[in-house]
Amino acid sequence: MHVAFLGLGAIGAPMARHLAAPPFSLAVWNRSAARADAFVAVHPGTRRAATPADAARGAAVVVTCLPTSREVEALLDGPDGLLAGLAEGAVLVDCTSGDPAGSRRVAARCAERGVAFLDAPVSGGVVGAEKGALTVMVGGDAATLARVRPVLEAFGQKIVHCGGVGAGDAVKAVNNALLAVHLWSAAEGLAALAKAGIDPAVALDVINTSSGRSNSSMNLFPERVLSRAFPRTFRLALLDKDVGIAADVAREQRTPSPLLQLTAELFRTAHHALGEEADHVEVVRLVERWAGVEIVPPATIAAEDAASILEQPL
Ligand code: NDP
Repeated sequence: MHVAFLGLGAIGAPMARHLAAPPFSLAVWNRSAARADAFVAVHPGTRRAATPADAARGAAVVVTCLPTSREVEALLDGPDGLLAGLAEGAVLVDCTSGDPAGSRRVAARCAERGVAFLDAPVSGGVVGAEKGALTVMVGGDAATLARVRPVLEAFGQKIVHCGGVGAGDAVKAVNNALLAVHLWSAAEGLAALAKAGIDPAVALDVINTSSGRSNSSMNLFPERVLSRAFPRTFRLALLDKDVGIAADVAREQRTPSPLLQLTAELFRTAHHALGEEADHVEVVRLVERWAGVEIVPPATIAAEDAASILEQPL
Protein backbone atom coordinates (compact mmCIF):
# COMPACT_ATOMS: atom_id res chain seq x y z
CA MET A 1 0.00 0.00 0.00
CA HIS A 2 1.39 3.41 -0.95
CA VAL A 3 1.33 5.84 1.99
CA ALA A 4 2.45 9.45 2.43
CA PHE A 5 3.45 10.99 5.79
CA LEU A 6 3.63 14.76 6.32
CA GLY A 7 5.13 16.24 9.51
CA LEU A 8 8.26 14.54 10.83
CA GLY A 9 8.28 16.25 14.24
CA ALA A 10 8.95 14.81 17.70
CA ILE A 11 6.14 12.25 17.39
CA GLY A 12 5.60 12.23 13.61
CA ALA A 13 9.07 10.89 12.77
CA PRO A 14 8.91 7.79 15.04
CA MET A 15 5.37 7.10 13.77
CA ALA A 16 6.46 7.33 10.12
CA ARG A 17 9.34 4.92 10.76
CA HIS A 18 6.82 2.07 11.14
CA LEU A 19 5.54 2.76 7.62
CA ALA A 20 8.99 2.75 6.00
CA ALA A 21 9.01 -0.99 5.27
CA PRO A 22 6.84 -3.48 3.30
CA PRO A 23 3.89 -3.95 2.95
CA PHE A 24 4.03 -0.14 2.73
CA SER A 25 5.89 2.10 0.32
CA LEU A 26 6.37 5.53 1.82
CA ALA A 27 6.76 9.13 0.65
CA VAL A 28 7.56 11.78 3.28
CA TRP A 29 7.31 15.57 3.32
CA ASN A 30 8.38 17.99 6.04
CA ARG A 31 8.31 21.81 6.04
CA SER A 32 12.04 21.95 6.84
CA ALA A 33 13.64 19.75 4.22
CA ALA A 34 16.54 18.85 6.54
CA ARG A 35 14.26 16.64 8.66
CA ALA A 36 12.95 14.81 5.58
CA ASP A 37 16.53 14.38 4.29
CA ALA A 38 17.61 12.90 7.63
CA PHE A 39 14.63 10.52 7.58
CA VAL A 40 15.31 9.31 4.03
CA ALA A 41 19.01 8.84 4.84
CA VAL A 42 18.07 6.32 7.54
CA HIS A 43 15.22 4.73 5.49
CA PRO A 44 16.65 4.50 1.96
CA GLY A 45 13.50 2.92 0.43
CA THR A 46 11.54 6.07 1.27
CA ARG A 47 10.92 8.86 -1.23
CA ARG A 48 11.36 12.49 -0.16
CA ALA A 49 8.53 14.48 -1.74
CA ALA A 50 9.15 18.05 -2.89
CA THR A 51 5.70 19.37 -1.91
CA PRO A 52 2.55 18.17 -0.11
CA ALA A 53 0.90 17.60 -3.53
CA ASP A 54 3.89 15.54 -4.66
CA ALA A 55 3.69 13.43 -1.47
CA ALA A 56 -0.02 12.77 -1.92
CA ARG A 57 0.23 11.80 -5.58
CA GLY A 58 -0.44 8.05 -5.94
CA ALA A 59 -0.96 7.53 -2.19
CA ALA A 60 -3.96 5.49 -1.00
CA VAL A 61 -3.54 6.95 2.49
CA VAL A 62 -2.02 10.30 3.45
CA VAL A 63 -1.14 10.83 7.12
CA THR A 64 -0.56 14.31 8.56
CA CYS A 65 0.92 15.06 12.00
CA LEU A 66 1.25 18.84 12.47
CA PRO A 67 0.93 21.12 15.53
CA THR A 68 -2.71 22.19 15.10
CA SER A 69 -5.63 21.94 12.67
CA ARG A 70 -4.66 25.42 11.40
CA GLU A 71 -1.45 24.09 9.83
CA VAL A 72 -3.37 21.17 8.29
CA GLU A 73 -5.92 23.52 6.71
CA ALA A 74 -3.11 25.72 5.40
CA LEU A 75 -1.56 22.72 3.64
CA LEU A 76 -4.68 21.92 1.57
CA ASP A 77 -4.70 24.61 -1.12
CA GLY A 78 -2.66 25.85 -4.05
CA PRO A 79 -0.84 24.00 -6.83
CA ASP A 80 1.53 22.43 -4.27
CA GLY A 81 -1.21 21.74 -1.71
CA LEU A 82 -2.52 18.37 -0.57
CA LEU A 83 -5.81 18.62 -2.47
CA ALA A 84 -3.95 19.02 -5.75
CA GLY A 85 -2.27 15.65 -5.22
CA LEU A 86 -4.93 13.57 -3.44
CA ALA A 87 -6.72 11.17 -5.79
CA GLU A 88 -10.44 10.44 -5.62
CA GLY A 89 -10.91 7.45 -3.29
CA ALA A 90 -7.84 8.26 -1.19
CA VAL A 91 -8.07 8.82 2.58
CA LEU A 92 -6.56 11.72 4.55
CA VAL A 93 -5.81 10.59 8.12
CA ASP A 94 -4.96 13.53 10.37
CA CYS A 95 -2.97 12.41 13.44
CA THR A 96 -2.59 16.02 14.61
CA SER A 97 -4.24 16.66 18.01
CA GLY A 98 -6.62 18.97 16.19
CA ASP A 99 -9.82 20.79 17.02
CA PRO A 100 -13.20 19.31 16.09
CA ALA A 101 -14.40 22.32 14.07
CA GLY A 102 -11.12 22.47 12.12
CA SER A 103 -11.34 18.76 11.33
CA ARG A 104 -14.94 19.12 10.14
CA ARG A 105 -13.82 21.93 7.78
CA VAL A 106 -10.97 19.78 6.40
CA ALA A 107 -13.35 16.80 5.99
CA ALA A 108 -15.77 18.97 3.99
CA ARG A 109 -12.99 20.20 1.68
CA CYS A 110 -11.81 16.61 1.14
CA ALA A 111 -15.34 15.39 0.44
CA GLU A 112 -15.64 17.90 -2.46
CA ARG A 113 -12.79 15.92 -4.11
CA GLY A 114 -14.13 12.44 -3.24
CA VAL A 115 -11.43 12.05 -0.56
CA ALA A 116 -12.40 10.55 2.81
CA PHE A 117 -11.14 12.08 6.08
CA LEU A 118 -10.49 10.76 9.58
CA ASP A 119 -9.23 12.69 12.59
CA ALA A 120 -6.93 10.23 14.36
CA PRO A 121 -4.93 11.88 17.17
CA VAL A 122 -2.66 9.65 19.22
CA SER A 123 -1.56 9.21 22.83
CA GLY A 124 1.39 7.36 24.32
CA GLY A 125 4.11 9.93 23.70
CA VAL A 126 7.37 9.62 21.82
CA VAL A 127 8.23 6.36 23.59
CA GLY A 128 4.88 4.85 22.55
CA ALA A 129 5.49 6.01 18.98
CA GLU A 130 8.94 4.43 18.91
CA LYS A 131 7.50 1.13 20.14
CA GLY A 132 4.54 1.25 17.73
CA ALA A 133 2.31 1.13 20.82
CA LEU A 134 0.22 4.31 20.54
CA THR A 135 -3.48 4.60 21.26
CA VAL A 136 -5.26 6.07 18.24
CA MET A 137 -8.64 7.77 18.77
CA VAL A 138 -10.55 8.05 15.54
CA GLY A 139 -13.37 10.31 14.35
CA GLY A 140 -15.14 9.62 11.06
CA ASP A 141 -16.80 6.88 9.11
CA ALA A 142 -16.37 3.28 10.41
CA ALA A 143 -15.98 1.85 6.88
CA THR A 144 -13.16 4.34 6.15
CA LEU A 145 -11.46 3.34 9.40
CA ALA A 146 -11.64 -0.33 8.34
CA ARG A 147 -9.83 0.59 5.07
CA VAL A 148 -6.95 2.38 6.79
CA ARG A 149 -6.70 0.16 9.88
CA PRO A 150 -3.46 -1.57 8.69
CA VAL A 151 -1.76 1.86 8.50
CA LEU A 152 -2.92 2.82 12.00
CA GLU A 153 -1.87 -0.58 13.36
CA ALA A 154 1.67 0.02 12.13
CA PHE A 155 2.15 2.62 14.91
CA GLY A 156 -0.90 2.00 17.13
CA GLN A 157 -1.62 -0.81 19.56
CA LYS A 158 -5.14 0.30 20.46
CA ILE A 159 -7.39 1.82 17.80
CA VAL A 160 -10.68 3.23 19.10
CA HIS A 161 -13.53 4.55 16.95
CA CYS A 162 -14.90 7.47 18.99
CA GLY A 163 -17.69 8.76 16.70
CA GLY A 164 -18.10 11.11 13.75
CA VAL A 165 -15.47 13.55 12.41
CA GLY A 166 -14.06 15.59 15.32
CA ALA A 167 -14.82 12.96 17.99
CA GLY A 168 -11.19 11.79 18.11
CA ASP A 169 -10.01 15.38 18.57
CA ALA A 170 -12.52 15.98 21.37
CA VAL A 171 -11.49 12.85 23.30
CA LYS A 172 -7.80 13.66 22.85
CA ALA A 173 -8.28 17.23 24.12
CA VAL A 174 -10.11 16.08 27.26
CA ASN A 175 -7.45 13.43 27.93
CA ASN A 176 -4.72 16.05 27.71
CA ALA A 177 -6.68 18.49 29.86
CA LEU A 178 -6.68 15.78 32.55
CA LEU A 179 -2.90 15.46 32.15
CA ALA A 180 -2.62 19.23 32.63
CA VAL A 181 -4.82 19.22 35.76
CA HIS A 182 -2.87 16.31 37.27
CA LEU A 183 0.50 17.85 36.46
CA TRP A 184 -0.33 21.27 37.88
CA SER A 185 -2.14 20.04 41.01
CA ALA A 186 0.64 17.55 41.79
CA ALA A 187 3.16 20.40 41.45
CA GLU A 188 1.19 22.59 43.90
CA GLY A 189 0.80 19.76 46.40
CA LEU A 190 4.41 18.57 46.24
CA ALA A 191 5.76 22.15 46.44
CA ALA A 192 3.81 22.64 49.67
CA LEU A 193 5.14 19.35 51.07
CA ALA A 194 8.71 20.16 50.04
CA LYS A 195 8.45 23.57 51.73
CA ALA A 196 7.20 21.81 54.88
CA GLY A 197 10.42 19.76 54.82
CA ILE A 198 8.85 16.50 53.65
CA ASP A 199 10.90 14.56 51.11
CA PRO A 200 8.91 14.61 47.81
CA ALA A 201 10.22 11.11 47.03
CA VAL A 202 8.64 9.87 50.28
CA ALA A 203 5.39 11.71 49.49
CA LEU A 204 5.30 10.17 45.99
CA ASP A 205 5.95 6.73 47.45
CA VAL A 206 2.74 7.13 49.48
CA ILE A 207 0.68 8.84 46.75
CA ASN A 208 1.63 6.25 44.14
CA THR A 209 -0.01 3.44 46.12
CA SER A 210 -2.94 5.67 47.11
CA SER A 211 -5.96 7.25 45.45
CA GLY A 212 -4.23 10.50 44.42
CA ARG A 213 -1.89 8.80 41.96
CA SER A 214 -1.75 9.63 38.24
CA ASN A 215 0.65 9.28 35.33
CA SER A 216 2.15 12.57 36.51
CA SER A 217 2.85 11.29 40.03
CA MET A 218 3.88 7.78 38.92
CA ASN A 219 6.11 8.65 35.98
CA LEU A 220 6.63 12.35 35.24
CA PHE A 221 7.62 13.54 38.73
CA PRO A 222 10.00 10.65 39.61
CA GLU A 223 11.65 10.53 36.17
CA ARG A 224 11.73 14.20 35.18
CA VAL A 225 11.24 16.52 38.19
CA LEU A 226 13.02 14.87 41.12
CA SER A 227 15.90 14.05 38.75
CA ARG A 228 15.81 17.63 37.30
CA ALA A 229 16.10 15.97 33.86
CA PHE A 230 13.14 17.80 32.23
CA PRO A 231 13.68 16.15 28.79
CA ARG A 232 11.93 17.87 25.88
CA THR A 233 9.44 15.35 24.43
CA PHE A 234 6.12 17.22 24.21
CA ARG A 235 6.10 20.97 23.94
CA LEU A 236 4.16 23.01 26.51
CA ALA A 237 2.83 25.07 23.57
CA LEU A 238 1.04 21.95 22.30
CA LEU A 239 -0.44 21.07 25.71
CA ASP A 240 -1.63 24.70 26.05
CA LYS A 241 -3.39 24.24 22.69
CA ASP A 242 -4.98 20.94 23.83
CA VAL A 243 -6.34 22.33 27.11
CA GLY A 244 -7.74 25.30 25.19
CA ILE A 245 -9.57 22.90 22.83
CA ALA A 246 -11.02 20.97 25.80
CA ALA A 247 -12.17 24.22 27.42
CA ASP A 248 -13.82 25.24 24.11
CA VAL A 249 -15.56 21.86 23.79
CA ALA A 250 -17.05 22.30 27.29
CA ARG A 251 -18.09 25.89 26.54
CA GLU A 252 -19.75 24.85 23.28
CA GLN A 253 -21.69 22.12 25.09
CA ARG A 254 -22.62 24.56 27.90
CA THR A 255 -21.52 22.04 30.53
CA PRO A 256 -20.04 23.37 33.78
CA SER A 257 -16.25 23.63 33.43
CA PRO A 258 -14.67 26.10 35.88
CA LEU A 259 -11.66 23.82 36.45
CA LEU A 260 -11.04 23.28 32.72
CA GLN A 261 -11.31 27.04 32.06
CA LEU A 262 -8.87 27.82 34.92
CA THR A 263 -6.45 25.14 33.73
CA ALA A 264 -6.56 26.59 30.21
CA GLU A 265 -5.73 30.03 31.67
CA LEU A 266 -2.84 28.63 33.77
CA PHE A 267 -1.32 26.81 30.81
CA ARG A 268 -1.66 29.88 28.59
CA THR A 269 0.20 31.87 31.26
CA ALA A 270 2.87 29.19 31.60
CA HIS A 271 3.30 28.95 27.81
CA HIS A 272 3.87 32.72 27.58
CA ALA A 273 6.27 32.68 30.56
CA LEU A 274 8.36 29.68 29.43
CA GLY A 275 8.30 30.06 25.64
CA GLU A 276 7.74 27.95 22.53
CA GLU A 277 10.39 25.29 23.11
CA ALA A 278 9.71 24.49 26.81
CA ASP A 279 8.54 20.95 27.59
CA HIS A 280 5.09 20.52 29.20
CA VAL A 281 6.58 19.21 32.48
CA GLU A 282 8.47 22.52 32.84
CA VAL A 283 5.25 24.11 34.15
CA VAL A 284 6.45 22.59 37.43
CA ARG A 285 9.34 25.08 37.35
CA LEU A 286 6.82 27.93 37.28
CA VAL A 287 4.91 26.54 40.28
CA GLU A 288 8.27 26.09 42.07
CA ARG A 289 9.20 29.72 41.29
CA TRP A 290 5.89 30.99 42.69
CA ALA A 291 6.27 28.71 45.76
CA GLY A 292 9.93 29.61 46.36
CA VAL A 293 10.96 25.96 46.63
CA GLU A 294 12.26 23.17 44.38
CA ILE A 295 10.60 19.74 44.40
CA VAL A 296 13.77 17.77 45.19
CA PRO A 297 14.82 15.39 47.98
CA PRO A 298 16.07 17.31 51.08
CA ALA A 299 19.64 16.04 50.58
CA THR A 300 19.90 18.39 47.62
CA ILE A 301 18.83 21.42 49.73
CA ALA A 302 21.55 23.26 51.65
CA ALA A 303 21.62 22.15 55.32
CA GLU A 304 20.81 25.59 56.81
CA ASP A 305 17.88 26.05 54.37
CA ALA A 306 16.57 22.58 55.27
CA ALA A 307 16.76 23.44 58.98
CA SER A 308 14.73 26.62 58.56
CA ILE A 309 12.17 24.84 56.33
CA LEU A 310 11.77 22.11 58.98
CA GLU A 311 10.93 24.76 61.62
CA GLN A 312 7.95 25.98 59.64
CA PRO A 313 4.54 24.64 60.73
CA LEU A 314 2.60 22.41 58.32
P1 NDP B 1 6.70 19.17 16.83
O1 NDP B 1 6.60 20.59 17.18
O2 NDP B 1 7.84 18.36 17.28
O3 NDP B 1 6.65 19.01 15.22
C1 NDP B 1 5.71 19.71 14.46
C2 NDP B 1 5.76 19.26 13.01
O4 NDP B 1 4.84 20.08 12.26
C3 NDP B 1 7.14 19.43 12.36
O5 NDP B 1 7.28 18.46 11.35
C4 NDP B 1 7.02 20.83 11.76
O6 NDP B 1 7.88 21.07 10.68
C5 NDP B 1 5.59 20.79 11.26
N1 NDP B 1 5.04 22.14 11.07
C6 NDP B 1 4.99 23.13 12.00
N2 NDP B 1 4.39 24.22 11.46
C7 NDP B 1 4.10 23.90 10.18
C8 NDP B 1 3.50 24.61 9.12
N3 NDP B 1 3.06 25.86 9.26
N4 NDP B 1 3.36 23.98 7.92
C9 NDP B 1 3.80 22.72 7.76
N5 NDP B 1 4.39 21.98 8.73
C10 NDP B 1 4.52 22.57 9.93
O7 NDP B 1 5.30 18.52 17.28
P2 NDP B 1 5.01 17.01 17.70
O8 NDP B 1 5.54 16.08 16.67
O9 NDP B 1 5.37 16.82 19.12
O10 NDP B 1 3.40 17.03 17.67
C11 NDP B 1 2.65 16.88 16.47
C12 NDP B 1 1.18 16.68 16.88
O11 NDP B 1 1.09 15.48 17.68
C13 NDP B 1 0.63 17.83 17.74
O12 NDP B 1 -0.72 18.07 17.42
C14 NDP B 1 0.77 17.29 19.16
O13 NDP B 1 -0.16 17.90 20.04
C15 NDP B 1 0.51 15.80 18.94
N6 NDP B 1 1.09 14.91 19.95
C16 NDP B 1 2.41 15.00 20.35
C17 NDP B 1 2.91 14.15 21.31
C18 NDP B 1 4.34 14.19 21.79
O14 NDP B 1 4.67 13.47 22.77
N7 NDP B 1 5.24 14.97 21.16
C19 NDP B 1 2.04 13.13 21.96
C20 NDP B 1 0.72 13.06 21.41
C21 NDP B 1 0.25 13.94 20.46
P3 NDP B 1 9.37 21.69 10.91
O15 NDP B 1 10.26 20.48 11.10
O16 NDP B 1 9.63 22.42 9.66
O17 NDP B 1 9.31 22.58 12.13
